[in-house]
Amino acid sequence: MCHTSKVWHNYAIHSFIFAVIRKTPLPVTYCYMPKSYKHLFFDLDHTLWDFDKNSAASLKTLYDEYNLKDRGILDFDALFKAYTYHNDRLWERYRKGFIKRDELRWKRMWLMLLDFKVADTSLAHELSIAYLEILPTQTLLVPHAKEILEHCKGRYDIHLITNGFETTQRLKLQYSGIARYFNMLITSERSNSMKPHPDIFAYALKAANAVAEESIMIGDAIDVDILGAINAGWDTVYYNPFGVKHNRKPTYEITHLEELMRIF
Ligand SMILES: [Mg+2]
Repeated sequence: MCHTSKVWHNYAIHSFIFAVIRKTPLPVTYCYMPKSYKHLFFDLDHTLWDFDKNSAASLKTLYDEYNLKDRGILDFDALFKAYTYHNDRLWERYRKGFIKRDELRWKRMWLMLLDFKVADTSLAHELSIAYLEILPTQTLLVPHAKEILEHCKGRYDIHLITNGFETTQRLKLQYSGIARYFNMLITSERSNSMKPHPDIFAYALKAANAVAEESIMIGDAIDVDILGAINAGWDTVYYNPFGVKHNRKPTYEITHLEELMRIF
């Protein structure tokens, strides 16, 4: 149990004893005594690893290498916006099982190019392969990601639950220098299930030798990380840097990762 939890625990016990002696109602704080967690399960993309910046850097490299300007695509920012749009929508379809991995990978490039009236299937396939080679070697992390991992190291068992692909996610961890912080890497590819499906959370508990009551999920996707973990009976931290409106009930909600210092 961490120092803060111990102090809170002692305070709660004393409040309880005084309330019983005085025959007064229990203080509200007693009801909100935080749990003592043993296992922290982080999401990777957009939560620790800065997916947007790393993705933009990768695509910019390809934009220059493949001379996409000469194909009439004059504005890189517009290209990246188109990529993000199609990637998000295709991931949604992939999560729901409507399309396979390979279709997701090349079609996001194909649709992006089509937005600029470049109908070139072989270029889309080439870009898809090159992008996947470059992306996991990018190293930008979300602000305070490394500090919070360092802060929690040795005090909790730290794991990852990610809907990404096994090889890609391992490379991201190695290149960005955070692989050493994690005990278990649970990917959708390995567990054969994707967040928010309860199977991946059950798989994660088994792999980490953990129980739901001592586990907490930290992630940026309200309907994927947070809803999935809530349905599995876990506590949650919703990392919501853009203040997205929602009607879910995470245990905690933060806008900066450094706020985790107050929880853990
Ligand atoms: Mg994420």
